[in-house]
Amino acid sequence: MFILFGSQVRGHSEPAGEYDCAVCGRRQTFSHVVEREFFTLFGIPLLQINTIADYLACDACSNSYSRGAMEEPSQIAVIRKVVAYIAVGYGTWDRFDTMADIFMKVTGRELDEAGFRADVRGVTNGEIDVHKLVGKLSANVNAHGKQQVIEAAFLATYASCELEYEDRLRVNLIGSSLGTSLEYVDSVINYVRSQGYYGVRRLLTSPQDG
Ligand SMILES: [Zn+2]
Repeated sequence: MFILFGSQVRGHSEPAGEYDCAVCGRRQTFSHVVEREFFTLFGIPLLQINTIADYLACDACSNSYSRGAMEEPSQIAVIRKVVAYIAVGYGTWDRFDTMADIFMKVTGRELDEAGFRADVRGVTNGEIDVHKLVGKLSANVNAHGKQQVIEAAFLATYASCELEYEDRLRVNLIGSSLGTSLEYVDSVINYVRSQGYYGVRRLLTSPQDG
């Protein structure tokens, strides 16, 4: 007998009323989204396994917020730490302009220099566990925010080194902490490439960069 077991994530969204959106800069209607994972048999969801994520999302700009923390989308603070983590790994953390450029291209926001330097110190002395923070974020962020996290990790890597297998692996691990598949990470990276790496300049130059 051939039985096909699996799991599937389903999102349920309902109106959550109006909130001030920090990205739109005005009051907007929001949705409360709950993503649940179901056990499936022949592709039919049978049993809820667990709640994957629970967040508020702006209906206008699609940014997701942790409930009770509306000052900025949930991924922003974590992206700053992801960029610090990658930059510390390659010793490029003191190239603030490049890291600020990546942060701006991905999030549309200025990178706070004092905050970034504090994150660099935290990563260096082990007080900041980036994978743990990314894992926690996954419960309060939608696909839009996850895409930004992967874009930032990839671009910080791209700017800092000639990409080898281990460098891509590090980005994959961030995606894995975020609960995304390798295919999803690949698709985000391919998208960033198709957009000319958002014009981010590499800190290293090589012959193929022309
Ligand atoms: Zn908005």
